[in-house]
Amino acid sequence: MTPTFEAALQTIKDQISAVPLDLPSEGVPLEAARGRVLAEDARADRDYPPFNRSARDGFAARSADLASIPVTLACIGEVAAGVHFENTVGAGECVSIMTGAPVPDGADAVVMVEHTQREGCRVTFLQGAQPFENIVRRGSEAPSGKFVLRRGQRVGSAEIGLLASLGAAKVTVLRKLRVAILTTGDELVPVEVRPEWFQIRDSNAFSLQAQVAEAGGIPRAVGIAPDRSETIMQMIEECLEEDFFILSGGVSAGKYDLVERVLEEMGAEFYFRSVAIRPGKPLVFGKLRDRFFFGLPGNPVSGYVTFQVFVERALQALAGAGFGEPVFWSARLAKPAAPKAGLTTFTPARVEMEGSTPVVDRISWQGSGDLVGLAAANCFLVMRPDEGPRSAGDWVTVLPKGD
Ligand code: AMP
Ligand code: MG
Repeated sequence: MTPTFEAALQTIKDQISAVPLDLPSEGVPLEAARGRVLAEDARADRDYPPFNRSARDGFAARSADLASIPVTLACIGEVAAGVHFENTVGAGECVSIMTGAPVPDGADAVVMVEHTQREGCRVTFLQGAQPFENIVRRGSEAPSGKFVLRRGQRVGSAEIGLLASLGAAKVTVLRKLRVAILTTGDELVPVEVRPEWFQIRDSNAFSLQAQVAEAGGIPRAVGIAPDRSETIMQMIEECLEEDFFILSGGVSAGKYDLVERVLEEMGAEFYFRSVAIRPGKPLVFGKLRDRFFFGLPGNPVSGYVTFQVFVERALQALAGAGFGEPVFWSARLAKPAAPKAGLTTFTPARVEMEGSTPVVDRISWQGSGDLVGLAAANCFLVMRPDEGPRSAGDWVTVLPKGD
């Protein structure tokens, strides 16, 4: 039976979590850690922030002194980021303070400079402050020793910033997952070859390599297999040298769609051989000699969508980063749209802001072979088989197009 989109996702999650792949770890300089998966937890090496930090430019004072406003206090000094104030702020006193500076002892509130008037050493406060207003308290982001990143987390720009603040010039990450890509089809020629009028260039080898790299894997394009069983078999043997492999093309019901048969002959186990989605229905997921694989339909948009919603999840789970469900967004529909009976559909579309409202409109496209349409899209309009026809203005589901 053909599983639904949700059931197929669950099958992938279950199969992959059942077999944890133990990748070795390696040290990399922090600047090379983007996109990598952490092999170790990271703890706060001291309190964050390390002192009570002023969040504003203004004046630090005792909040009790600001109970009735206006009030004029004596300014006894200044403290900027990178220095500290030696004395204590007493009753009736204040200190000029800059954003990022340590709040002096005695003071427990900061009033923004905009709400004060200064004349020489006297500062009149036109606004009061609650205790610790405009102050980020020592240790409030993370007390010393707290885990701030966990093994299995993927490092993005924000995590790089956090690791840098912890002093991690070098980080321990898991080895990248190696992913073989085999494209199949007698009509395909390599990108540098001028195709005959009846041939097409092997674009999937490139889009899939890019998607694998973006997902954090190391792609290896094994080559183009003609629609001949023996060659496909030999090239699948090569794919088995890597951690995981992706086959493109040859999984539909046509006379020359040999990939499934070959995999079967080689002893593959299949978890599903199609999914109730469009594009991408003939998607295949299985395992051959301890290696998970996907057989993607050859149509470029089908391959792209199935990679984004299924293969990327599998790849990242195998790479040690856990299984992340695809996250859907909402937008208002520009023109009426109807679901397809029995299928979850992913239609290339553009979402644009109209004032403060995201509005989604489908791209005109010629079906699942249309890379021109795909490149013009910035999202997919997602329609589930159980939802009724939708009118203009209805809130509908969109999936942002991956990179
Ligand atoms: P298939 O899944 O093999 O039946 O192929 C479906 C459609 O996708 C056909 O029009 C193929 O020519 C096209 N196609 C298959 N493989 C590729 C590829 N690697 N790059 C671009 N288009 C492809
Ligand atoms: Mg084919």
